[in-house]
Amino acid sequence: MGELEAFREEVRGWLLENAPRSLVGQSSSQLEGTWGGRKATYPNPDSRRWLDVAAERGFTAPTWPTAYGGGGLSPAEAKVLQQEMRKLELPLPLIGFGLTMIGPTLLQYGTEEQKLEHLPRICRGEIRWCQGYSEPSAGSDLASLKTRAVREGDTFVIDGEKVWTSYADLADWMFALVRTDPEAKKQAGITFLLLDMETPGVEVRPITLISGSSPFCETFFKDVRVPVANVVGTINGGWTVAKALLGHERSMIADAFGGGSGRGGGARLPELAREYLGEANGGVADPLLRDAIAQNEMDTRCFHLTVQRARDAAKAGHAPGPESSLFKVYATELNQRRYELMIAIAGPQGLGWEGPGFDAEELARTREWLRSRGNTIEGGTSEIQLNIIAKRVLRLPD
Ligand SMILES: Cc1cc2nc3c(=O)[nH]c(=O)nc-3n(C[C@H](O)[C@H](O)[C@H](O)COP(=O)(O)OP(=O)(O)OC[C@H]3O[C@@H](n4cnc5c(N)ncnc54)[C@H](O)[C@@H]3O)c2cc1C
Repeated sequence: MGELEAFREEVRGWLLENAPRSLVGQSSSQLEGTWGGRKATYPNPDSRRWLDVAAERGFTAPTWPTAYGGGGLSPAEAKVLQQEMRKLELPLPLIGFGLTMIGPTLLQYGTEEQKLEHLPRICRGEIRWCQGYSEPSAGSDLASLKTRAVREGDTFVIDGEKVWTSYADLADWMFALVRTDPEAKKQAGITFLLLDMETPGVEVRPITLISGSSPFCETFFKDVRVPVANVVGTINGGWTVAKALLGHERSMIADAFGGGSGRGGGARLPELAREYLGEANGGVADPLLRDAIAQNEMDTRCFHLTVQRARDAAKAGHAPGPESSLFKVYATELNQRRYELMIAIAGPQGLGWEGPGFDAEELARTREWLRSRGNTIEGGTSEIQLNIIAKRVLRLPD
């Protein structure tokens, strides 16, 4: 038996012994799992147990070095672990911006002290992170951000506001972009800072949307004092760190949405079509939808294989560059096409909002369909990704 197959046996045994039975068969989606943090609640106590045993074994961050709480696995071993977890349809033991965004960025740009302070707490699910990038006049044109940080000795004093901060009300720490040199060319005066959300002067106000619920918040800063030691990278050199983090964010979004997501979205299109449309001659009854489903299934598989090939070719510790924009655009548009198809397949049952005429899966699907509209905006809109691809991947002239 080769080394990798021996590892597969070991992992399989470990999962059977340690993964709580109540979670087996519960998920095949990268979006489902525990977010952790000081304010976390665990309606199913087994989710907490799963987080703890996985963290103990380093399996919440399989490829991170063991010195920082990770599993120290090679990319090939991490892939085996992922495959074995998928076979059991286990939810990930931990999800969130700590693991997918700020953690990998700290591995690349953090000081040794920052890595030792933050990475093990991320791996154990103790701290939940949020992203303080967007401002009322700085979305696509992120570098025009105005939140100011003025240095006073060993601290920065921050004043300003952020918007669309997903889950700021549930987060413990924020990674934020602040302006430290208002005189410099806009990208050159930005610094990347870490801050505890409990610092005096930080105020979070949730934003309510028409759906009645929303992850969004506004975050206000008034004389918020943050140690200079919390700067990641160099003072006024934050744009480089910010772009690296966006590469991780866009890869995460591509992973999460490229293959179907969520409860309603987890159902495979052919099964859904058989359920709602019935069969004719052994296939889906409606020929136009049948074609559209076949196309979407093929596109999804091709996308998976392309992502896998890119990942297999990447060296250990490789950080995604501008090419992550390609995956982000394709995955998010694929996910939106998939949800449009699901709604078309389900017909009137696809538009349920409340009431007795719809089952739980249908109600979840309607919300997930609406949520999928945000996929081509979050992490940078599709138009911005296309600009990045044109300039930084294809090197086309301005
Ligand atoms: C679900 C979701 C979660 C989010 N979570 C967070 C978060 O946690 N933290 C955070 O900081 N932000 C978050 N955001 C905000 C997100 O990053 C911004 O919405 C996004 O960058 C776009 O900025 P904007 O909304 O200001 O749109 P604008 O920048 O005003 O853009 C409006 C339109 O103009 C187009 N446009 C703008 N400039 C150009 C150009 N140069 N070329 C071509 N077209 C252009 C855009 O593509 C878009 O269609 C989230 C957004 C969503 C939808």
